[in-house]
Amino acid sequence: MTAENLINGIPQERRLTTAIPGPKSLDMQKRRVSAVSGGVGMTLPIFIERAGGGVVVDVDGNSMIDMGSGIAVTTVGNAATEVAAAVTEQVERFTHTCFMVTQYENYVDVCEALNRLTPGDHEKRSALFNTGAEAVENAVKIARHYTKRQAVVVFEHGYHGRTNLTMAMTGKNQPYKQGFGPFAPEIYRMPLSNPFHDGLSGADAAKHAISRIEKELGAGNVAAIVIEPIQGEGGFIVPAQGFLPALVKFANNNGIVFVADEVQTGFCRTGAWFACEHEGIVPDMITTAKGIAGGLPLAAVTGRAEIMDAVHAGGLGGTYGGNPIACAAAMASIGIMEQQDLNAKAKNIENVMVPRLKKIAEDCGVIGDVRGRGAMIAVEITKPGTDEPDPDMTGKVAKLCHSEGVLVLTAGTYGNVLRFLPPLVMPEHLLDDALTIIERAFKEATA
Ligand SMILES: *Cc1c(COP(=O)(O)O)cnc(C)c1O
Repeated sequence: MTAENLINGIPQERRLTTAIPGPKSLDMQKRRVSAVSGGVGMTLPIFIERAGGGVVVDVDGNSMIDMGSGIAVTTVGNAATEVAAAVTEQVERFTHTCFMVTQYENYVDVCEALNRLTPGDHEKRSALFNTGAEAVENAVKIARHYTKRQAVVVFEHGYHGRTNLTMAMTGKNQPYKQGFGPFAPEIYRMPLSNPFHDGLSGADAAKHAISRIEKELGAGNVAAIVIEPIQGEGGFIVPAQGFLPALVKFANNNGIVFVADEVQTGFCRTGAWFACEHEGIVPDMITTAKGIAGGLPLAAVTGRAEIMDAVHAGGLGGTYGGNPIACAAAMASIGIMEQQDLNAKAKNIENVMVPRLKKIAEDCGVIGDVRGRGAMIAVEITKPGTDEPDPDMTGKVAKLCHSEGVLVLTAGTYGNVLRFLPPLVMPEHLLDDALTIIERAFKEATA
């Protein structure tokens, strides 16, 4: 094994030593079932012992290629050396003070970095939280406080989290909402631009959504428009060009706070610091989490200073928000992104994956659309020759990938999207190997 084939001391290889799941995972799964709430789901019933670079290694010694990054979180790699060192240094000095009680410098460091890296050169402020849902909730709180309006516009197929407010904002019943109502009021869902299905130009799709907002709500009642610039759980739907800029213009003209939910798309995932950059739009507020801190729980709202500072002192916060260990991890992660130019790495992943997936699409006949940007790439699986979703085929392909040691995730309102979110430090030979397995899985599933 050569040195470059080791990351974190872990061989960068796909290696199956047992069936998936193996005997040790099966044993732990029995304990899991009797100890952990059945309401917490899992993609694959295996238990991980170590992870790094492009692999996760389970308790049976199986080394799986990680095409999910724990849902777009371990962008800089799992247990990245610099992140582990920064966390260790911080955890030995102090673990917590509560930033609302006594302050510490790395909270400010993270806010400065967010203000510098997010789109737009206007004066900005940030506030830190623990989860994506919490960031989205706070963005809505701030926008409502600032505008003195209540209505919040969201979009079809959107996903914003699992708390009461963000469930209301999420556009998919199963599994996120079923039986969990009543949901928060004043949330209005509008049609998205979804080029594979609606065939509309960005301008026409925006005209349609804006007209609905004007007629159904009245623009003057809307506090915020909240949208994922590329939808994550919704199935990596990239709106047609011009859709987002038209919404931003409408928001700006009507005193509406435009919020880009970049919890999944942010921090180099799409080959740019933020996905808004691909359309040249500048949101008033941006929510981030997932990829920000190399696996530690951290989230943020960053926005125009006049909006963020409008809230009275004490109106925002939380016991753990911006925990110093998570902040140390974030600063180390951002350092890796800058030093290793992870935006370039994400673009390279796109350049490797898209042609191979398009070839698979031609050969197998069940892939209706290959889409996404950077290291956020998906295939939508449809009944041949139609745009009708085929979730059974999607599950079958995912299962075949898992049994061969490639961890893939599904997505989409109809569960018919296979999505790929590799760590940006994924060695290219592993990416190639994963694509070979994916190709074989489609061949076998459609045989
Ligand atoms: C994952 C996600 C959230 C919720 O983040 P959590 O940390 O799971 O609460 C919100 N918005 C988007 C776009 C997401 O992908």
